[in-house]
Amino acid sequence: TSHPSLRRPPCDLIAGVEHPLSGDGLVSINPARPDQVVWRGTPEISHADEAVAAARAALGPWSRMPEEKRFAVLHRARDLFDERKDEFASIICDETGKALWDSAGEAGILGAKVNITLERSANSGMSRVTGFEAGLTDTRVGKCWFRPHGVMAVIGPFNFPAHLPNGHIVPALAMGNTVGFKPSDKTPGVGQLLAEVYREALAAEGAPGGVVNLVQGGAETAQKLTTHDGIDGVLFTGSWPVGRKILESNLDRPGRIVALEMGGNNAAVVLPDADLRQAAIECVRCAFITTGQRCTCTRRVIVHESVAERFIGAVVKSASTLVVGDPRAEHPVFMGPPVNEASRDAVLAAQASYAKSGGDVLLQATAPEIPGGGAYVTPSIVQVDRFTPTDGSDAGCDVEVFGPLLRIAVVSSEDEAIEQANATRFGLAASIFTKSEASVERFLAEARAGCVNVNCGTAGASSKLPFGGLGLSGNHRPAGAFSLDYCAYPVAGMIESGDAAGVAKGMLFEDEWVEG
Ligand code: NAD
Repeated sequence: TSHPSLRRPPCDLIAGVEHPLSGDGLVSINPARPDQVVWRGTPEISHADEAVAAARAALGPWSRMPEEKRFAVLHRARDLFDERKDEFASIICDETGKALWDSAGEAGILGAKVNITLERSANSGMSRVTGFEAGLTDTRVGKCWFRPHGVMAVIGPFNFPAHLPNGHIVPALAMGNTVGFKPSDKTPGVGQLLAEVYREALAAEGAPGGVVNLVQGGAETAQKLTTHDGIDGVLFTGSWPVGRKILESNLDRPGRIVALEMGGNNAAVVLPDADLRQAAIECVRCAFITTGQRCTCTRRVIVHESVAERFIGAVVKSASTLVVGDPRAEHPVFMGPPVNEASRDAVLAAQASYAKSGGDVLLQATAPEIPGGGAYVTPSIVQVDRFTPTDGSDAGCDVEVFGPLLRIAVVSSEDEAIEQANATRFGLAASIFTKSEASVERFLAEARAGCVNVNCGTAGASSKLPFGGLGLSGNHRPAGAFSLDYCAYPVAGMIESGDAAGVAKGMLFEDEWVEG
């Protein structure tokens, strides 16, 4: 019942103490080998209360600790991430079905995240949350300083089960918050490994174990945590339908920070002067990487009619050569199975539905049988007339299908290309392929997305930059390099050193009233 990467049996970790979870209320299996259990345990909903109480108890000591001591814990965690890179890669691969090289990529950025977050350079996140002073009068100084929000509920998705929760935990801890962490119920094992590292780093530096608490479970546990009276904020990465529920259940708590990083229906625009090799390779890579299970995957391509035939032909040919197979295969594999059978079925159902509503299936997804018995699916490409920003069921509708399905529309002008790129209620990532500086300038100004790329695809982001989306993709609290911003709030103070308080008009004050 326990993966070799884990040091403990399936458990919650509260205030540094292991609470074993027996039973099979929650079971994660290897998507490539469904007979292999990665993690098994029955969540204990009351642990959500215990986790919040532990995080609350640790908040005072942790937030008052000198910054260097908090950073020492994070540096210790970084070293453990680096030491256990292979263990992370192995369990990420076995629990998500991501190809081993892809899983190793995620494992490799966990430690780097700590360095980037804590860096102090002119453009660093730290420079944005460093206090400052401003002279106000001869005797009065203005001061700005940053305070942690308090106890944060961190809710993770399955697709980057270590990197994305870690992207919330590192800045939260750096600014002095404490955390109740619920990993995706599809990846409890990876969640446990992440929490094991924090437990060890906190203990090694003599910090309270309640700074990071792990609670396993599904929607019920997540709901309990995100609506708990004892928390001060929610740091969520996941889908819009779930983000909506979190937002709705926090409507009466306007002071609570609810940071939402959600899905996308990301567009890539290919203009007539584009380098078609560059555009085709990037569009195929970004549509299908991680089996289409990245929030920034290219979901829609909008190509100009003058190059459409050549471009689409190349994209379809290239996508049809992608190697789908066992994530641990010796030979190069581009993509493994999606996380579960339901995800595979969702791709096949969307493809059928688009075809039924007039879409032209250029590359037909199939469900190949591959030894091990995983629910594999091959890439799908569907040409549609146009994209519409509605959640209907027409071939061009605006729904995030979280799998290897790409839709393409052909347009006849740059105006139409931009209109089509923006024909979405999401706004996470967008790309343009062109050699024209004027077209680039226009796209950077008009593309309605938080991440806008030029001559490279939508998938992938740099932690050195902010990250986040507009519309249904999130609430304008960019993560990445700006994640420290949403983990602390600025306080404004005025510090007076003089004694010349003036008596205002209509006010009377006799000095003898205070004379002894
Ligand atoms: P999901 O929304 O299904 O689940 C995310 C988390 O929410 C899980 O831990 C789940 O247990 C929890 N949850 C479920 N019901 C809940 C409720 N009622 N209240 C609170 N929490 C609840 O997402 P997923 O399938 O794990 O991940 C894929 C989604 O995440 C896609 O939409 C993808 O685009 C998005 N995503 C966004 C980003 C980003 O940074 N913008 C990054 C990765 C993934």
